[in-house]
Amino acid sequence: MIVILRQGVTEPKIEEISQWLESLGQVNVSVVRGSQTTILGLVGDTSVIDQDSVESNEWVETVTRVQEPYKNANRKFHPDDTIVEIGGHKIGGEHFQVIAGPCSVESSEQIMTVAQSVKSSGAHLLRGGAFKPRTSPYSFQGMRAEGIELLLEARKATGLPIVTEIMSLAHLDLFNDVDVIQIGARNMQNFEMLKELGHCQKPILLKRGLANTIEELLMSAEYIMAGGNNNVILCERGIRTFEKYTRNTLDLSAVPVLKRLSHLPVVIDPSHATGFSYLVTPLAKAAVAVGADGLLIEVHNDPAKALCDGAQSLNCTEFEELMQDLKRRIAFENRVM
Ligand code: PEP
Ligand code: MN
Repeated sequence: MIVILRQGVTEPKIEEISQWLESLGQVNVSVVRGSQTTILGLVGDTSVIDQDSVESNEWVETVTRVQEPYKNANRKFHPDDTIVEIGGHKIGGEHFQVIAGPCSVESSEQIMTVAQSVKSSGAHLLRGGAFKPRTSPYSFQGMRAEGIELLLEARKATGLPIVTEIMSLAHLDLFNDVDVIQIGARNMQNFEMLKELGHCQKPILLKRGLANTIEELLMSAEYIMAGGNNNVILCERGIRTFEKYTRNTLDLSAVPVLKRLSHLPVVIDPSHATGFSYLVTPLAKAAVAVGADGLLIEVHNDPAKALCDGAQSLNCTEFEELMQDLKRRIAFENRVM
């Protein structure tokens, strides 16, 4: 339920109305202060609340019941875009970010080389998998704890905040110094993990599952937000369709749909979406055109020798060229990168 208050309502009144609403049912009230209006978002069992009695309050402008099962993630609760801050960099609203780096951390030399290179090309965030969700147990599983150490060293050397995937809550302590925790496609509905990550304030990059709907993605974001962590960044990384030519099918329409339904930033991962490096640049440009707030791009210093996802990785020169192009596009759209 959304309660919009009249202009001119004072802080003590907002507090009084919030407490009154909470006393009516088993609900939590969150206050969103816009430039013109104050919105009270009620989450919980609002069925026992009588809409007419709320509307009769002199400071209440309108009362709307929200049909969608996601509340905190809903744009109706929070009309302005959410801007997530990561180590001094903003994503969302007019702020566009590029997260770049190898699929996996492979060695100190590899991650340092890629980190320095993507930084000089203008990326603001470094990615690299330490724990890798591989289809085969015989494939390279990542450098695990050592991989996180190497990412932290690369951050120290370059200043780039780091983004890396968690695969088990048993590893949570290893992520204490990580700037953004990635929840991969395969764990999008690991509800226990989502709940736990809702109890920290670290930004979470939540990837859409291979066979999940947009509403399911938003419900997973809701799990994190219900715990009190509003720093969620959504990521479209391609879904499974009958098409076999590309690794997945990039659902570009997810961007305007998600931005209509939710206030959370949305990034596109054209690398996992397509599986081929030659498709990454055109789809990265398309992502900007449809209004994505950022990109997640796999970059390797020697893609042919990569231990994971080499075919979809840009080399450092290709990434540099893409960044030059993106900078022009973002500036043309009066956004900041
Ligand atoms: C990744 O980002 O390296 C990754 C494994 O992505 P996804 O979960 O989208 O497959
Ligand atoms: Mn990968």
